[in-house]
Amino acid sequence: MNYRHSFHAGNFADVMKHIVLTRIIEYLKLKDKAFRVIDTHAGSGIYLLTEGDAARTGEWHGGIEKLLNTPVAANDLLQPYIHAVQAVNGSEALKTYPGSPKITRYLLRKQDRLTAIELHPKDAKLLAKAFADDFQTRVIELDGWLSLGAHLPPKEKRGLVLIDPPFEEPGEFERLVEGLQKAHSRWPGGIYALWYPVKDRKGVAKFHSALAESGIAKVLRIELCIRGASDEPQLDGSGMIVVNPPFTLVEELKVILPVLTDALAEDSGAAFRLDWIAGE
Ligand code: SAM
Repeated sequence: MNYRHSFHAGNFADVMKHIVLTRIIEYLKLKDKAFRVIDTHAGSGIYLLTEGDAARTGEWHGGIEKLLNTPVAANDLLQPYIHAVQAVNGSEALKTYPGSPKITRYLLRKQDRLTAIELHPKDAKLLAKAFADDFQTRVIELDGWLSLGAHLPPKEKRGLVLIDPPFEEPGEFERLVEGLQKAHSRWPGGIYALWYPVKDRKGVAKFHSALAESGIAKVLRIELCIRGASDEPQLDGSGMIVVNPPFTLVEELKVILPVLTDALAEDSGAAFRLDWIAGE
């Protein structure tokens, strides 16, 4: 396990993923009934941008920093995300970035719960520290793929499973499909959000075909590319698959994706995609 999210925190892919995450959580909050978020590949929870790994790559300049410097940041639909980022920076300029578990936790109400799972021992330790004494959050050092069997369905019977693997080893697309099928068979009513890179475009197309053939009824595809397809494979964009998306999500994304794509674009090939792989 070589992947450390600290090199990539706050990049354009994080921005898109975390905005989708916040819109799903805001939907879950429309009802008083408690829900649970299970984050199967949670990372370390909080990242310093101005020193260390993130400073070395500087990826966040093309992500969260770029977004905050555009008028798009004032869009009402983005406020839960923007506020979560502001919450870890206080009144200071952007210096720290919250990972998915911190963003989720910022938005939870007192009745809601978070299960944050991380396998890398160092990141799991940092994650446990980031949530020490927080009785609403359970941090577990575990293989996130196992949690799709062990922790589903949650006792709240409402909620979201975020599956955000590192894509550092071959077979991650296949693991995503298998993991989703296993999880969905245990908890068909849950919302599932899966992140994937747009880099190996043939691999992405195969992944989409496998999802279409999976028999899962409601599968939404969201993609945002910041540039046209590169000659050599590189991260041109990223995508999310949302199973059982909130009915509000498509209309919200029709507003968010065009402006977000413009805000994060690196060249005129930047584009987004929002459509159904199955259902609707
Ligand atoms: N979800 C985080 C966020 O949005 O802030 C980023 C997660 S990062 C893309 C993927 C994480 O998965 C890394 O921290 C890595 O150590 C962890 N990881 C890798 N294999 C794992 C596994 N089998 N189970 C759980 N975590 C794993």
